[in-house]
Amino acid sequence: MKVSWLWTSSLTPILNLRSKICKMIDTHAHLDEIKEINRAIQRAKDAGIRGIVAVGMDLPSNVTTIDLAEQFPDMVQPAIGYHPWSISTDTIEENLKFIEENLPSCIALGEVGIDYKTKVKKPVQWEVFSKVLSLAIRHSRPVIVHSRFSHQRSHQMVRDSGIEKAVFHWYTGSLEILEKIIDDGYYISATPALAYSPSHQAAMKVAPIERILVETDSPVEYQGKVSEPADLIMTLTELSNLKGMASEEVQRITTSNAKRFFSI
Ligand SMILES: [Zn+2]
Repeated sequence: MKVSWLWTSSLTPILNLRSKICKMIDTHAHLDEIKEINRAIQRAKDAGIRGIVAVGMDLPSNVTTIDLAEQFPDMVQPAIGYHPWSISTDTIEENLKFIEENLPSCIALGEVGIDYKTKVKKPVQWEVFSKVLSLAIRHSRPVIVHSRFSHQRSHQMVRDSGIEKAVFHWYTGSLEILEKIIDDGYYISATPALAYSPSHQAAMKVAPIERILVETDSPVEYQGKVSEPADLIMTLTELSNLKGMASEEVQRITTSNAKRFFSI
């Protein structure tokens, strides 16, 4: 009897939490890089996650991302992109062509952007980013932006292109640029790195909750653990603590943000 009481007692809060977070959406995951995807999707469902936006990096990754969305239509929505890490001058044309042809059947453009820590030359990154931004405009798609060490330029280019909906993913830039991002109506997204990254925490503290999306960027490793969409609970917990808000309230608002952002 004692064993059974212990079970009931320890499980009840978890079950309550799951029932309250039943509609969460992981807005940024590299599903094509996740091993044993069937199990990871099942664990995400078990954790109460009801949607995943799968992002692509380049042509092979975009093809797999679209395939995964077809394989898990009740859980996965595809976004396709051309990540600054993946740019090579001899494959730019074929990557842009694939995006041009397939963006209409995807919910967003991403992951795209600028990264000043990667070896690809800045002018090449700017040219590709500018071209993919025009594709997003042409097909009226929101943009998922990678802006590592390039926050100012990334924001400026998004703004100048006339894009209406953009999320500056895993934002760690200055609060001055964050203010401009918010003023322009754009979003930033939170990852499990909120547990330890001071610049990420500072941004999330200042940004209005109505402009924050939650994600995992899985399978990125956080403090030695390879992540998966089920780890969205970590992002939610950290964001709730940081904002001093109940987790169900943060879940409700960020889910509504994701639906508005992706028009889903
Ligand atoms: Zn990513």
